[in-house]
Amino acid sequence: MTDEQLSAFRRRVRAWLSSADIPSLPDDLDARFAVLRRWQRDLYRAGLLGLTWPPEWGGSGLDSRYQQALIEELVNVRAPQPAGLIGLDVVGPSIGRFGTERQRSRYLPPILSGDEIWCQGFSEPEAGSDLASVKTTARLESGTYIVNGQKVWTSWAHVADWCALLVRTSVADGRRGLSYLIVDMRSRGITVRPLRQISGDSEFNEVFFENVTVPASNLVGLPGDGWAIAMDTLSHERGTYIGRRYAEVSAALGDACDSLAEALGRDQAAVPERLFETVGEAKVAEQVLHAQAVATLGRSVTSGASPLDSVDKLVLARTEQDIFESLRSLLGPFLNECGETAWGLRSLAVGRDYLYGRAASIYGGTSQIQKNIVAERLLGVPRD
Ligand SMILES: Cc1cc2nc3c(=O)[nH]c(=O)nc-3n(C[C@H](O)[C@H](O)[C@H](O)COP(=O)(O)OP(=O)(O)OC[C@H]3O[C@@H](n4cnc5c(N)ncnc54)[C@H](O)[C@@H]3O)c2cc1C
Repeated sequence: MTDEQLSAFRRRVRAWLSSADIPSLPDDLDARFAVLRRWQRDLYRAGLLGLTWPPEWGGSGLDSRYQQALIEELVNVRAPQPAGLIGLDVVGPSIGRFGTERQRSRYLPPILSGDEIWCQGFSEPEAGSDLASVKTTARLESGTYIVNGQKVWTSWAHVADWCALLVRTSVADGRRGLSYLIVDMRSRGITVRPLRQISGDSEFNEVFFENVTVPASNLVGLPGDGWAIAMDTLSHERGTYIGRRYAEVSAALGDACDSLAEALGRDQAAVPERLFETVGEAKVAEQVLHAQAVATLGRSVTSGASPLDSVDKLVLARTEQDIFESLRSLLGPFLNECGETAWGLRSLAVGRDYLYGRAASIYGGTSQIQKNIVAERLLGVPRD
C-alpha cells in the first residue's frame, strides 16, 4: 500500500463524513448505545468496517494504518466509534482465526454490520488476573454443553446477543482444562445483573449461568484450546486499543485546550498561573502516547501479537490517567458539580473522562500483570 493510496482513503472517508448524519451522544448509557449501534450500521454500509479483516471474513484486507486513519478522521470531526467494538476489535478476530468455516460465515458478518453485539466472558470473582483459575464449567452431554458458573465485569452483557465464554471443560489443572464457547445471551438460565460504576454508568455486569445449554458446535477450536484462544483475544484488546484511545484522549485534551484558550481570551486575570504548567504536562504526556501509538502501528503492519503490547498498555494507562488528572486538577471542587464550568472546562465531560481513565490500569489485564509480562518475556527476569 502506498502513501498515495492511504491519502486517497483519507479523502474518501472525509468526503463520506462531510455528508454523513454524525450523531451526538446522549448522556444516558442505554440511549447512547442505541445511537452508536445505528452509527455502526452507517459506517458498515459505507464500507468502513472490517478494514483490517481479510476479504474471506468480509473485510477489506488492508493494513492497520488504514484502521488508524479511519479512527483519526472520525475523531477529527468528533464522530463516535461504532457500538460493537468487542466484536470488531477483540472477539471477532479470534473467531476468524480459530473458528470453523461455519462459525466464520455465521458470526462475522453481523459483527461487522452491528446487527449482533458481543461480550467477552472471561473474568470471574476468583479469576481475573489469574484466568487459569476459571471455575465456570461446561459439561458435554449428548452433543450439548451444560454451562454453570458466574462471570463478572462483563462489559455490555446487558445488550449483547452473544458471549465469548471461557469455560472449564475438564478437571485438568489450570489452563489445560479451558475451552472457548460461543454462547447465545438469550439462552434460558442466563441472568445478567448490571454493576454501577464510579462514573455512574452501568457498562459492565455480573452474569450467572445455571444449566445453560450450548450446542457442541459452538466450541471454538478443540476442547482445551481455550487458553490459547483467550490469550489471542486479550492480545487484540491490549494491542489494537492504543491507537483508538490515543485519538480519543488527544481529542479530549484538544477540546479542553480550546475551552481554556477561550476563557483566557475573555478574562486573563481569572485564569490561575498553574494552568500553563498543568496543560504543558498534559501535552507532554499526549506526545508520549502519540510516539507509542505510532511505534505500535508500525509494528502491527508487519507482525502480530507481541509482549510489546504490554508496554503499550502500560504507557496508555499511565498517560491517559496523567492527562485526565491534569484536567481534573484545574476543575478542583467543581469536578463534582454536574454541569459546572471552570476556566471553560465542563465538569461533566472532564469528570467522566477522569473517572473512566481509572479503569485503564485494570481492564485487559492490570498494570501489575503487564509489568510481570514485560519482566518475564521481554527482560528475561525469572518467574517468582
Ligand atoms: C472497565 C472494565 C471493563 C472490563 N470488561 C471486561 C469484560 O468485558 N470481560 C471480562 O472478562 N473482564 C472484564 N474486565 C475485568 C478485567 O479484565 C479484570 O478486572 C482484570 O483482569 C483484573 O482482575 P480482577 O479485577 O479480578 O483483579 P485481581 O486479579 O483480583 O487483582 C487484584 C489486584 O492484585 C494484583 N495482582 C493480581 N495478580 C498479581 C500478580 N501475579 N502479580 C502482581 N500483582 C497481581 C492486580 O494487579 C490488582 O491490583 C473489565 C474491567 C474493567 C475495569
